[in-house]
Parts: sequence; structure tokens; C-alpha cells
Amino acid sequence: MPKAGHEKGPKARFFAEHASTYGLKIMERCPSTSEVVSVRCQFCGYYGPETDLEKLRQRAKKTTKMAWTNCFRVDQYKKHNRSEHPSIWATYQASTYDEKLRFFDSKVPLENTILPHINSGSTATALKINIHPSIVEILISDMFFHPDDQGGVTQQAALKLFIRKEDYYEVTISNPVQFDLVVAYIARGISFRQCEGIVADTRSITGIYTRTWLS
Ligand SMILES: [Zn+2]
Repeated sequence: MPKAGHEKGPKARFFAEHASTYGLKIMERCPSTSEVVSVRCQFCGYYGPETDLEKLRQRAKKTTKMAWTNCFRVDQYKKHNRSEHPSIWATYQASTYDEKLRFFDSKVPLENTILPHINSGSTATALKINIHPSIVEILISDMFFHPDDQGGVTQQAALKLFIRKEDYYEVTISNPVQFDLVVAYIARGISFRQCEGIVADTRSITGIYTRTWLS
């Protein structure tokens, strides 16, 4: 039984075996009792949430790494792993006890890789550009994406990016790293279509989720 004063309800204590069962890392212990105070989800730290592009947009600001402090509930670990890390969680559960102990050993923390910087799409790092109306209305709308081309679908998709303000249009680039890459590729003289292909290849080969930049 825990000592009096440390009990905070039936689920307040952390069970050591849950660390390997649910992929948790012990972050903090009580200095006097050595009881676990805080644990962190290692899938968040090494893999990040598994989301499709639509979810990625919705949660653009959310880069939370899940942690639990003095509240250790199996149902919450499971719920979190199922919703945020479904495929790696399935792999993990299928691993042996020894494999689980070594599961994160050779992994590089996500924040030390280039992926979150390209994938983030965080509005905190979004790039806002104000553009003269004639550039949007004449060059982009009429000349570059003529409504007669492809039934106007491409034009509509492109124009969705530009928000009309008083005397200018505002465009928000949610993924500035990708934007800079695309601008650099185009400046080298490749076509827009080639650029789109290169971005798609980069995505499939490296696993970087690059957003389609015209949607
Ligand atoms: Zn997690």
C-alpha cells in the first residue's frame, strides 16, 4: 500500500510494467518515495501523431506530446495510442517483451529530424503575403489559370488561397519550408508539373507529408 498522503485515488499510482506495455517513459519520480510522478508517451516523441492531411490541417497548431502526471489510467493510454498512433501501436503490441524494451533504442527523437519542420504547417510559422489585386485577378486568375482550362476546377482551387482584403489579397503559406523549396525548384527552371512530381516523389520516398500546394 502507498504511504498515507501519497494516495490520490485508486488510479494515482503508476505500475512499472505499464511502461513497456504502453510505450511510456518515466519522466519524474518523487524524490522521497521514488514513486512515479510523470510519464510520457514515447510514440509522440519518436513518431508523432499519425494523421492524414485533412487532420493535419485541422490540428495545425497542435504539436502536443502526451504526458500523464499523477493520473495513470490504462484506458487513457489505450485511447491515446489507438487514436494518435494506430499503426505503430499495432506493431508495438505485436512485439515481444524484449522487443518492446528495445523498441525506441535506435530511434531519433522526432524533433531532431527534419520531418516536423516540413510537416508542421504550424500557423505560428505560417508565412503571410499581401498581393496587389491585379496580380491575383489578371495574372493568376485570368492568364495563369484560365477558367476554360479543366472546367475551371484548377482555377477555383488556386484562387481559394487568396483572401480578398480592402485593397489587396492576402495569402497564407501554411508550410513555408515547402514553399521555399518549390520556389527554389521553379527558379532552377523546371516546370510547375515537374515540380509537383518532384514534391510527390520526395513525399513518397522520404515519408515527408508535403501538402499539395495548390489545394
Ligand atoms: Zn502519443
